[in-house]
Amino acid sequence: MPLPRAGDSTVANQSVKADLVLHEGEVLGWPGSDSVAIAAGRIVDHGPFARLKGCVGPRTHLVKLAGRTVAPGFIDSHIHFLEAAAVKTGTSLGRCRTLGDLLGDLRAAAGKTPPGNWLKAFGCDETMLAEKRGPTRGELDQSVPKNPLRLRHQTLHGSWLNTRAINQLGLESPQFRPPDGAQMLRDATGRLSGFCVGMEEWLGAHLPRVTPAEIESRAGVMSRELAAAGVTAFTDATVRNGPAEFALFARLASSGAISQRVGVMLGAAQLDALPQVVEHARAGRIRIAALKFMPAGGGNGGGWMARSTRMGLAGGLDCAYHATELEELEQALDAIEVARRQFASDRPLPLCRIEHGGTILPDLIARIAASGAWVVSNPGFVHFRGPKYLEEPGLVPHLYRARSLLAAGIELVGATDAPVTPARPLAAIAAAISRSTMDGEVLAAEEGLESSEALAMFTRDAARLARIDAGEIASDKLADLIVLPRNPVTLSPAELQSLPVDMTLIGGRIVYERGRPAVAYSDSAELHSV
Ligand SMILES: [Zn+2]
Repeated sequence: MPLPRAGDSTVANQSVKADLVLHEGEVLGWPGSDSVAIAAGRIVDHGPFARLKGCVGPRTHLVKLAGRTVAPGFIDSHIHFLEAAAVKTGTSLGRCRTLGDLLGDLRAAAGKTPPGNWLKAFGCDETMLAEKRGPTRGELDQSVPKNPLRLRHQTLHGSWLNTRAINQLGLESPQFRPPDGAQMLRDATGRLSGFCVGMEEWLGAHLPRVTPAEIESRAGVMSRELAAAGVTAFTDATVRNGPAEFALFARLASSGAISQRVGVMLGAAQLDALPQVVEHARAGRIRIAALKFMPAGGGNGGGWMARSTRMGLAGGLDCAYHATELEELEQALDAIEVARRQFASDRPLPLCRIEHGGTILPDLIARIAASGAWVVSNPGFVHFRGPKYLEEPGLVPHLYRARSLLAAGIELVGATDAPVTPARPLAAIAAAISRSTMDGEVLAAEEGLESSEALAMFTRDAARLARIDAGEIASDKLADLIVLPRNPVTLSPAELQSLPVDMTLIGGRIVYERGRPAVAYSDSAELHSV
């Protein structure tokens, strides 16, 4: 039976008894409403509680908002869920701003790790450290003498290893052959420096295996963290995703370890495995979010990207392109333009999406607009990685643009790229408005958004990109909702930055509850755990 719509007669609405009514608060974007009624996982209606009372039956669960605000849940359009979950269980060093701090934190973590066990740490970025360099192998050996150590770069594109790790992995044995594309850097004496790039996948495969039970438990922790940040749906954008990862996500979604709605991108190199992927996705009720491309540089990559783009689009898949650097963006646009020319212009095609759009020079704005590509931006990078960008002041006006893209008619959504920045959309939304770095400097203020626009990047517009029937408070929309202690559009970016989420609902089910309004502002560990 179709549910009655908002705005239909009161009598029609009252024929449905709600499972849940959130009442006596504010409803974001609807000044005349104070309550939302939910049935069968969807919003039945919203309005003044007096009008919705007819939806309240004997089995209706009533949640008193006491002035708090109901908003659409956040959709994070680009994260790396399994990486973020792994980081949660390792040592996080993202806040260190000097090598001394970083090495001190590593030493402390090593002190808590049984000798011989692997120490996994995350979040080192030399551009964010005062010394503008990463740790040397000698420094790592001094801080972590008894454990093999893998310290991952904040961007996830490289790792530092200490001598114990290098020995265990056999990287200095004469028989060792590095995987294709790996770069193992050496110091002035010719010895391995401990830093390697292009070996992330190889390292993942050669470190001790993580058991399925451990993965399930990590996923549960991460999903809860996302729920605590108000995330009701996400897309995993990891380029190496293939059938095995789809099977894993399907299992984690089916078991309930992940409570969010899940979208997973398929690495473009694994397009041949699409039939298996479709099976896994159907079994786990997860979305195949897009085909993911990593521009490789050089001339040949372009032809392959255009060909695969054409196949993806023809097969009904959105296509997503990693583009933090200018050359990557140009390669992506080349591929999109070539592929799109091969389809009749009257035929509706799946979407193309530029991931990050880190640097966009003015002449490329019109090209993106003409291509019809969406931009999935990371406003939180301005905040969390801002100090790095100040190294190149010439690029600042072109970084993580927002206002100029909207002005050109480009569809813009937001993502945290967790674990590269914390999985907290509110922090990214605050940065989209303020353009403020963690050190309080403002980068290209003219690219700042209004709060309603910044919120839409993680709600309404992200829902349109993912084709999830949510992201807005309207009748018949999925009841993917959050409750915030205060109305976010009335807050300053600094207040938004630290605003907790009181409650998260997915499909009308409460998956996270922070507590009563009286304790909404307490400094709980949960709130600051990222
Ligand atoms: Zn990413």
